[in-house]
Amino acid sequence: MARMPGADYRPVVNVHKNGVLEHRGLVLHVQDGTGSPYGWFNQTSSQASSDFWVGTGGTIEQYCDTGVDYAFAQAAGNPYYASVETEGRPDTALTAEQLEGVAHIYAWGHSAFGWPLAVVDSTTEHGFTYHGVGGEAWGNHPDCPGDLRKAQRPAVIARAKEIVGTTSGGGSVSLAHVVAAARKDPGAAQGHTTHRSEVLVVERALQAEGLLAAQWVDGSFGTKTVTAYAALQRRYGFSGADADGIPGRTSLTRLGAAHGFTVTA
Ligand SMILES: [Zn+2]
Repeated sequence: MARMPGADYRPVVNVHKNGVLEHRGLVLHVQDGTGSPYGWFNQTSSQASSDFWVGTGGTIEQYCDTGVDYAFAQAAGNPYYASVETEGRPDTALTAEQLEGVAHIYAWGHSAFGWPLAVVDSTTEHGFTYHGVGGEAWGNHPDCPGDLRKAQRPAVIARAKEIVGTTSGGGSVSLAHVVAAARKDPGAAQGHTTHRSEVLVVERALQAEGLLAAQWVDGSFGTKTVTAYAALQRRYGFSGADADGIPGRTSLTRLGAAHGFTVTA
């Protein structure tokens, strides 16, 4: 059961059991109201629910088995993204306590499901997106969660990075070193390492993305890591020779932005 520590678990009837197809990230919503929506979410006539709700005072409620069952918050987006309702109105910002609560939810999802620590304005990319971007397919709520809350997503992600501890631990990675490792390590003896510490930073990020199993996070850019990196490149929209598993500047910089490391030459 995927229950978030620190959240008040209050399961509701409006969920689709075992409906989750993919762990792309989290969708930010605004309640456009006040008070816990538990009662509304727990009556079948409403056909409404979310994974989480964060009150203005920072209280977190969780309404379903996140990552397994999906809630009814964003129509066609439900099988792919979890959802967080935030108390208040579209023309008001998240309180500091709410921002902290959403950041803790995101940090938990990053660890539990590999949600990248990145803001996206998308219905397909992995990261922290928002309801209105989904248009008709996501239920036609263009004003959810409102411009003020949308603009707070980078601050939520920055705080989530602090919570998961990648801001200080990431450091910098040399593109030339990582490319050299990706060319040399697969053909060398098992476990051969070329630039171990930098490769480890990249491998931890690939693991957090859900693309590399923990046993291959070993500092050697071997065939498993090349395969994982190729999957990342495809996720970022590359194909053919641009998705061969050898890091390029664009993909590595984007991976670093999501996982707290910088890229040098
Ligand atoms: Zn919404």
